[in-house]
Amino acid sequence: MTNKLMFFIGNWKMYGENSLIRIIKALHEASIKFKNKNKKNKVVLCIPYTLINFFVKKKKIKSISIGAQNCHHESLGPFTGSISAKMVKDVGAEYIIIGHSENRSDGDTNKKIKMKIKLAQENKLNIIFCIGETLNEKKTKKTFSVLKKQLSDSIDKSTNSKKIIIAYEPVWSIGTGRTPKSNELKKIFLFLKNTSKKILHAKSYPAIIYGGSVNDKNVSIFSSISEIDGFLIGGASLSVKKFIAIIKNYYK
Ligand code: PEP
Repeated sequence: MTNKLMFFIGNWKMYGENSLIRIIKALHEASIKFKNKNKKNKVVLCIPYTLINFFVKKKKIKSISIGAQNCHHESLGPFTGSISAKMVKDVGAEYIIIGHSENRSDGDTNKKIKMKIKLAQENKLNIIFCIGETLNEKKTKKTFSVLKKQLSDSIDKSTNSKKIIIAYEPVWSIGTGRTPKSNELKKIFLFLKNTSKKILHAKSYPAIIYGGSVNDKNVSIFSSISEIDGFLIGGASLSVKKFIAIIKNYYK
């Protein structure tokens, strides 16, 4: 079992309320235990914009951070109902998800995602950049070409490799209970590590995490793939018990 830094990132989507603040206390307690076992991990809760400030004020330890789930691709302007990267930063978030497939299907293009990444970087946010193929692209064996295009269209050598986490999220796996086979995932992670390092002109590999139907039962399967640097967790991150069980079971 590895001792490297692992990311456990929750994506609450359009769910969650103030009362879920109890997750912070439970994570504080759990993180002390993991620390005692010498397991380095970073927990990030990407929550609705309206909860960010409240959660930021309540969290007390460094290994837990608060993030947003999106921002607009322009820095400011007449965009009713939108939130900029600067607003996200000003309210205390340290992380931001960009390029989630739910936002891609709502009109986010690789070009817009590139603009969002640039603005997030200018505002010193840590970026969780989501990429992934659809079921049809997987079936027609386009996975590697789709991933390469998503990477090369939205990041480049001006992107800080230390401030970006690439989240591989096959679209067919999000919220479906289906996950890739371990041997396929290993190949994809090796490809992503090498391709992104080249595109970023980086000296070391950026962190690359997996997302798609991760739960407390299947997380141990992923622990055998050493290239995985953490997880982006949707549905299961809304349950305090399940989210902590994912972290515990990963280290079992
Ligand atoms: C997600 O929305 O990023 C996600 C991975 O969702 P789920 O864990 O529910 O599949």
